[in-house]
Amino acid sequence: MVGSERKVGRYAPSPTGDLHLGNIRTALLAWLQVRSEGGQFLLRIEDLDTPRVVKGSSDQILRDLEWLGIDWDGEVVYQSQRTSLYEQALVELSDQQLIYPCFCSRKDIQQAASAPHSNGLIYSGECRSLSLFQREEKSKIKFPAMRCVADGGLAKSCGDFVVKRADGLFAYQLAVVVDDLEQGVTQVLRGQDLFDSTERQQYLAKKLSPQAVRIEYTHVPLMLDEIGERLSKRDGSMSVSEYRNKGYSAEKLVGELLFNLGLLSDRAPVSILDLKGEKECQNYFKTIVNYQV
Ligand code: GLU
Repeated sequence: MVGSERKVGRYAPSPTGDLHLGNIRTALLAWLQVRSEGGQFLLRIEDLDTPRVVKGSSDQILRDLEWLGIDWDGEVVYQSQRTSLYEQALVELSDQQLIYPCFCSRKDIQQAASAPHSNGLIYSGECRSLSLFQREEKSKIKFPAMRCVADGGLAKSCGDFVVKRADGLFAYQLAVVVDDLEQGVTQVLRGQDLFDSTERQQYLAKKLSPQAVRIEYTHVPLMLDEIGERLSKRDGSMSVSEYRNKGYSAEKLVGELLFNLGLLSDRAPVSILDLKGEKECQNYFKTIVNYQV
C-alpha cells in the first residue's frame, strides 16, 4: 500500500503521434520529480479521443520511454478500458444536480458567448434552464453534450464545461480527474499549455472526492525551437525514434534535454538513473514554483 506521504506521479500521454523532445522533456521531469524522492511513477495512455488516436502510437510511446530509461510502476493504464469509471462519475455529478444536456452547436455557443476566455468562449449556460419537455423534444433531433455547472470563480473564468461530448466520448477534463483520483496520484507535472485546465480539474476532484488528498499541480514551460515555436508531435520536428534511428543514444538525448533546462552545465551524455539523486534535479523543482497550483 502507498504510504500517505509517498509521492505518486504520472505521465499521461495521448497516443496521437510519436513523442518529440518537448514530450519527453516533460516525461523526464515528471519522472524525476517523484523518483528523486523515492515516489511511485505511473503511466497512463489517454486514448479516449478515438478520432485523434494514431494506430501504433501507444506502443511506440512505451518503447521510447523504455529506451530512455523512464520506468513506471504497475501496469500501463489505458483510458479506453475505463469508460465505466467515467460513466459512474457522471452519475455522481448528476446526483449532485451538476450535469445537464447541452444541445448547442459550436455556432450557437459563439453567438451567445458572454466573453472569451483563454480556452475559448465562456458558454452562456443557455441549455441549463431548459424544461424536461424541451430536453426531450431536442433529444429527438440531436444527441446532446453533457455539461457540468461551474460555480464561484470558475463560472467567471471558464463557465459550464463539457464532461461528455456530443459524439458520446468522455471529455479529457472528466477522465483525467477520475483517473488521477482513482490511481492515488499526488503530483501532476505537465506542460504549461494545460495550466488553464487545472481549475476545472480541481473543481471536479472536490465534487467527486471531497476527502481526497489535494493533488499538487506543476506546469513546466514548453520546449521551444530556435525561432520560439513549440516543439511537439504536430510540428514536424524530429521524433524520439528518429533520433534513435540516427544513432543518438538515450544518454545523449537526456543530456541535451537537461542542458536545455539549465540542469547540466555542459552537453555531456547522462543516464537518467544517475540523475535521481542529483541535487540539481531536486533544486530544479523549487525553481519552477511559478507554475505550481
Ligand atoms: N493527455 C494529455 C496530453 O497528452 C495530458 C494530460 C495531463 O497531463 O493532464 O496532452
